[in-house]
Amino acid sequence: MHAALQLIQRRHRLQAAQPGAAGAPATAPAAMFSAVPGRTALVLDSPHSGTTYPGDFRAAIDLPTLRRAEDTHVEKLYAFAPALGVAWVEAHFPRIYLDANRDTAEVDASMFEAGFDTAWTEPVTTDPVVLQKVRLGKGLIWKFTDEGVPIYDRLLSVAEARARIDRCWRPYHAAVARAIDAAHARHGYSIHINCHSMPAVAASHATLHPGLHHADFVIGDRDGSTASPALSQAICAFLRERGYSVDYNHPYKGVELVRRYGHPAAHRHSIQVEINRKLYMDERTLAIEPAGFARLQGDLRAMVEWLLATDPRQ
Ligand SMILES: [Zn+2]
Repeated sequence: MHAALQLIQRRHRLQAAQPGAAGAPATAPAAMFSAVPGRTALVLDSPHSGTTYPGDFRAAIDLPTLRRAEDTHVEKLYAFAPALGVAWVEAHFPRIYLDANRDTAEVDASMFEAGFDTAWTEPVTTDPVVLQKVRLGKGLIWKFTDEGVPIYDRLLSVAEARARIDRCWRPYHAAVARAIDAAHARHGYSIHINCHSMPAVAASHATLHPGLHHADFVIGDRDGSTASPALSQAICAFLRERGYSVDYNHPYKGVELVRRYGHPAAHRHSIQVEINRKLYMDERTLAIEPAGFARLQGDLRAMVEWLLATDPRQ
């Protein structure tokens, strides 16, 4: 393992008792996620803001390069939410180690040691749209950074991929599903906001639209299939009224976490919210820009409070 990774890992073990979101209970040192139960119809999850780099990652590139894949500080932007009774689920594992916003079928056989075809007993995707992302190196376990740099100088074993799924993917998804089920059981509907951030400009291997300058927000509901389009468009309008540029379902429609849990006909709404990192941080140093962060957080709080007063059945 890279020396810098060992250092950060030790640092994170020491910090593990500190919650990511304000009000979140302390987690055990090895916890790969934290979850705070809610008492409202609203559930927020942040799958990509984790910064605890596990010891078995064995990546070939340095930590600053790996960290460019994080949705850094997203958990801090929404730190007000648990105190409002909003359920909160947060990954501590980094996205570049295991991407919780992918299906477990989104694996790239070329990353694995010989014998993958017989050792991997679960489905492997053949969906041409999903395969486009896998080829970019953006499957369940990433092959390339957003800049196209290979993350490993070795082939992975099926056992280590399974271990990542068992330790990170399954418990994270179970926690999101549990939170949404509980919200729905209490209120007869649920609104799940899947929280992300995006670079100001898409890098070469980040998306299917390299070089695209992103709006301040991108709201995604997979073309109205994971939430009521009226609710998604009301979120767009709310943010535009506060002065932000907002795109809807372009270039990000939402991925696995909204696809799996959004079912608007059953009053289960799942919406992806992408925030442009230029609004709150320096993308080069990863440092928070306090004035931008404070303004943005105030607007996110207003959005969450407005959602708490919104019943999408009406
Ligand atoms: Zn993300």
